[in-house]
Amino acid sequence: MTSEYEPVIGLEIHAQLLTRSKMFCACPASYGAAPNTLVCPVCLGLPGALPVANETAVEFAVTMGLATDCTIARRSVFARKNYFYPDCPKNYQITQYDAPLCTGGHIRIDGNDKKIRIKRIHLEEDAGKLVHSDEENSSYVDMNRVGIPLIEIVTEPDLRSPAEASLFMQKLRAILRYLEICDGNMEEGSLRCDVNVSLRKTGTGKHGVNTEIKNLNSFKAIEQALDYEVERQKALLGQGLAVSHATLLWDDAAGECRVMRSKEEAHDYRYFPEPDLRVLEVSDTLIERARASLPELPAAKEKRFVGDFGIPAYDAQLLTATKEISDYYEIVARESGNPKAASNWVMGEVLRELNERKIEIPMFEITPERLARLIREVEKGTINIPTAKSVFKEMAKTGHDPEVIIAGKGLEQIGDEAELDEIIGKVLDNHPSEVAMYLAGKVTLLKFLVGQVMKASKGKAHPQKTTDRLKTLLEERRDD
Ligand SMILES: [Zn+2]
Repeated sequence: MTSEYEPVIGLEIHAQLLTRSKMFCACPASYGAAPNTLVCPVCLGLPGALPVANETAVEFAVTMGLATDCTIARRSVFARKNYFYPDCPKNYQITQYDAPLCTGGHIRIDGNDKKIRIKRIHLEEDAGKLVHSDEENSSYVDMNRVGIPLIEIVTEPDLRSPAEASLFMQKLRAILRYLEICDGNMEEGSLRCDVNVSLRKTGTGKHGVNTEIKNLNSFKAIEQALDYEVERQKALLGQGLAVSHATLLWDDAAGECRVMRSKEEAHDYRYFPEPDLRVLEVSDTLIERARASLPELPAAKEKRFVGDFGIPAYDAQLLTATKEISDYYEIVARESGNPKAASNWVMGEVLRELNERKIEIPMFEITPERLARLIREVEKGTINIPTAKSVFKEMAKTGHDPEVIIAGKGLEQIGDEAELDEIIGKVLDNHPSEVAMYLAGKVTLLKFLVGQVMKASKGKAHPQKTTDRLKTLLEERRDD
């Protein structure tokens, strides 16, 4: 039953661009201002107001096109999409229809093994926001978001499972954030995802009837909503029933999809070329500027980390998920001289600390240079790993240098032979029967004795030297 049908999934993603002003007017494109304060005649669609396209938004869209190997159209056309809704004051949205800015790209997923094709990337403007109040039994509209530049990224239906869809979305978000053209905040809606899904008999090219699920605002929601819808369609087909076109909404709390409306056809929007804007012409200069601004992207960085630092692909993928983490890791790896230890520290202690405190790298007290110095103290044998972990906690709390904390608290490892021998001597004197049993052949007791030395030294004894000296001193007692 599970293998009889396979899901055919495509995504439509809306990403708000981090421009300072809106798509077609000079209003600030910022978040969190008092309702209806960031508006003007253009974005409110007052009679006689004329839009002018934002060049930075065009450049950002071109950058995304280049980063995903799209063809950039030298001439593309803005179009009116007509619809009536309270959050759309002009009664139409300016978007691009049959002549989009970017076409024919792709993003690779699954360790770069699978190519997901991108059909198009086009520019458009966002709508306003409705705020519903159950207590007052009323709704309000905030027009601040009207006209904020968006790119819509449309994939071909190349995804074959809910997990793949979520993975693709993670890769896409990482690219947007590396390019610094979208903050990728799905909870606040600056990155939104609609999915369409149908089932087909495994191994056939024929597509079934699809449904669309709107406005999924987390990777988890994408996967759960698709799981739910795939199962629902499977059950229908299994009973010989048909799937019908519909637009669905995912209810996170209930864990189910609800029908929002039966799907409208494209002609319902009466698209036509926007008469108030000229054809969008992209110059060589703009394309070259966008190309020159491209940073090293996550996939390339992942490969380089594996090659340069000899860390596993799994580590590299985690460490390149955001630009901040990858930059942080790279400094720790280079300055500590031990890339694998650096990877363990960043993936373990650093990410844990950031998650627990819900903060980002720029707010973190432990700079990469400081963490590298802490790792070097372990390498030099000044402290052992458990002590280093407690120094790390102290560094995060106080922002102090590792050397200062180690010296201030007297945490240096005891590696001096005479000093170690004295502690070990006392431990052996206090455990005559364990010593006798060890010498009689019960060598597993060595671990117990190491533990006793650690305890006696308050965790500061050098583990390897302790083991070595213990063996020697135990042998010396054989002749007694
Ligand atoms: Zn405006």
